[in-house]
Amino acid sequence: MIRHALAGLSLAELQNLLQPLPAFRARQVFHWLAQGVPSFEAMTDLTLPLRHDLANRFLLYSATVSQQLEDNDGTVKLQLSLQDNTRIEAVLLSDNEGRKTACLSTQAGCPVACVFCKTGSLGFSRNLSSPEIVEQFLHLSSIADIANIVIMGMGEPLLNLEALCAALAVFTGDLGISRRRITISTSGIVKGIRELASKRLGARLACSLTTADPTLREQLMPIARANPLPRLHDALAYYQQEQGQRLTLEAVLLGGINTREIDARALGAFVRGLDVVINLITWNPISGLCFEGKPLREPSRREVERFGALLEQQGIQVTRRFRKGIGIAGACGQLGFNPHKQMDTTMSDTTR
Ligand code: SAH
Ligand code: SF4
Repeated sequence: MIRHALAGLSLAELQNLLQPLPAFRARQVFHWLAQGVPSFEAMTDLTLPLRHDLANRFLLYSATVSQQLEDNDGTVKLQLSLQDNTRIEAVLLSDNEGRKTACLSTQAGCPVACVFCKTGSLGFSRNLSSPEIVEQFLHLSSIADIANIVIMGMGEPLLNLEALCAALAVFTGDLGISRRRITISTSGIVKGIRELASKRLGARLACSLTTADPTLREQLMPIARANPLPRLHDALAYYQQEQGQRLTLEAVLLGGINTREIDARALGAFVRGLDVVINLITWNPISGLCFEGKPLREPSRREVERFGALLEQQGIQVTRRFRKGIGIAGACGQLGFNPHKQMDTTMSDTTR
């Protein structure tokens, strides 16, 4: 018999599942789960027989932590094994002030297949359920207090919109996390951006533009064919209009590929009419990834600086994310479990 896991459910779902137990019992259990409790045994305000009964009937978590990797800069990566043995990863990032950000996955693998991304190179396994998304946060919460959530782990969140929205409802509702502290990063799924905008959930949006040269974008991100730049621009403007927030555009800089002057000009033209900050991300090396027959390479520091300056000259606000910095992109772009190895060797950057 497959036992139902309790972590990651909304309070209402938990109350339903635990009936005929009174609602206050479900609230107690929810409170423990929100703290990342290690066992039913540890739920000390429940009677002992109740703790035993719950332990017999339910699982606490559906995922088990198969590996926990830690970096000197405070980054922690959890490798989680789900009930059907699907593997996913979730990351805890630390900024200079010690504030923690949870980077969560929404899919196992990713169907979008961007040429520069490790997750994309794995292919697509399946969508995660809402509790599986929330549970990643709960596992990370047991390590540290979390200030922000970024939906930038494995997968394309807007291709799993229903589970994403259900998870957001748990975060902002039962778990009391402010909407402004949650950022969703998309590769630019027009339909999903519009749907998310009309739901007015208030989460921040980041779009991985990478380049505003349409031909190059289609080569680097195959999803761009069905989501052309003019329609993406309109969808982002609509999101901004509905949510009234500054957007982030992410550009992973690939050495010698999307750092040309025409890429900077094209970005300048694309952002017209939008209130944005462009986040420049140095590509994190993943062996075996090629473009036009040549291995991808990191941009030089000079290349990144020159590109940033070209954007700033056009009056665009730019932030830079270096690999040794808070590491969000590094962690996100490199996530992916290799079933043939014990440990994901590409994470050596963040485990050194
Ligand atoms: N699918 C979503 C969210 C996950 S990817 C998206 O594409 O936005 C999160 C971020 O990592 C994206 O901005 C993506 O462009 C970036 N990324 C992917 N591969 C990378 C790599 N090798 N180095 C640095 N960033 C990378
Ligand atoms: Fe998927 Fe994002 Fe990676 Fe592209 S960058 S393959 S959308 S996870």
